Amino acid sequence: MWHNNILETIGNTPLVKLNSITKQVKGTVLVKLETTNPGNSIKDRMAVKMIADAEASGLLKPGGTIIEGTSGNTGMGLAIAAVIKGYRCIFTTTDKQSKEKIDALRAFGAEVIVCPTNVDPEDPRSYYSVSSRLEREIPNSWKANQYDNLSNTQAHYEQTGPEIWEQTEGKVTHLVVGVGTGGTISGAGKYLKEKNPRIKVWGIDSYGSVFKKYKETGIFDKDEIYPYITEGIGEDFLPKNVDFDVIDCFEKVTDKDAALMTRDIARKEGIFAGNSAGAAVAGLLQLKDKLTEDDVVVVVFHDHGSRYMGKMYNEDWLRERGFLEDEKLTAQTILRK
Ligand code: PMP
Repeated sequence: MWHNNILETIGNTPLVKLNSITKQVKGTVLVKLETTNPGNSIKDRMAVKMIADAEASGLLKPGGTIIEGTSGNTGMGLAIAAVIKGYRCIFTTTDKQSKEKIDALRAFGAEVIVCPTNVDPEDPRSYYSVSSRLEREIPNSWKANQYDNLSNTQAHYEQTGPEIWEQTEGKVTHLVVGVGTGGTISGAGKYLKEKNPRIKVWGIDSYGSVFKKYKETGIFDKDEIYPYITEGIGEDFLPKNVDFDVIDCFEKVTDKDAALMTRDIARKEGIFAGNSAGAAVAGLLQLKDKLTEDDVVVVVFHDHGSRYMGKMYNEDWLRERGFLEDEKLTAQTILRK
């Protein structure tokens, strides 16, 4: 038994029970662990689906160039698919992203252009604008546009949602997902609600992002927007892939809580996951009073901890941001003083 190429190994990721950090939570908490995908993130699923749909509709032609503004994980999925399918890849990303993520994209032969984070999306220097310009100027190029390309949501409607339903034998009662483009929560949430309309879908948002306020008031409030550290979730605009009707509520998590919970997941559950996994679990703990003993909660862990080695898995990084002030100093830090 073998797979014909690496792309065939995408999906069918494990569902793993949390036992320690969720002790105070009533019910069962299961993690959909997307780190086993070849690019170590859930984004492989939608990358392959976006390419397949673009090929089918003639937008992406043989020998073409794939362009995308990506924080890394989508780029990784696109880059891997491009290797197998023979496309060139050019990505624009922001200087907020970890160096590990950018180097990993380059490892697959992709070209990466780093743009400033704290400029408006409409600013010509933003990673959105730069990628649009490259698409206009490079012949036979196609911009994947993960935020508004609904193939993204569809990938999770066709794969992630059904996998969660089958793996829980239909017992899932809550889906908890960090929201960035919105593809994961909208696709998986829609599928699960079609199977059982009583399932609750909770979106995890960052302070500095517009989603929660928009869901609660219908107002796009620019005052909600400010720089934050948590990677992969929250936005300063409304992507088409966020289906606000599928999402029952949003919960905001601070950078500190997200970072420390990410670290705790490794230390207490032995699961080496990315920053948005920490945000999702921290958000779930904030909402724990809404749960009962019979509930079965599925939390999506989008990506792998290796991409955050210089960040929340690095004690100096945590301390510089004041995230460790309540903790006793470790031997390493005492000796360095
Ligand atoms: N976590 C991480 C690490 C991500 O890269 C992303 C994608 N931006 C998300 C969460 C959010 O997933 P989605 O885009 O499907 O909403």
